[in-house]
Amino acid sequence: MKSEMLNAYPEMSAGQYYPMRMPSVAVSLLHRVRIRMFGMSKVGLDEVHFSAPTTIWLSECRACGAWNVDYIHGFWPNEYFNCKPCMAQKEA
Ligand SMILES: [Zn+2]
Repeated sequence: MKSEMLNAYPEMSAGQYYPMRMPSVAVSLLHRVRIRMFGMSKVGLDEVHFSAPTTIWLSECRACGAWNVDYIHGFWPNEYFNCKPCMAQKEA
């Protein structure tokens, strides 16, 4: 994923824009290795959807295996990422 993508659609709020699902074929080996080791991998900096530049991460959902691009929610030690397919299922 190119970091310019993180700064697209400035009229949208962070909550509307994230999480973004990343197709499995688009996830590089480097991201896969980092996620296996650390649980997340840095994608870039979003400077338009937040009041301050925010780091955006790629992670793999433990429940459904989907790859999601999201910012960190919550506060330590209760930080988490959202999953687009799992959120859609909860709403349905
Ligand atoms: Zn999921």
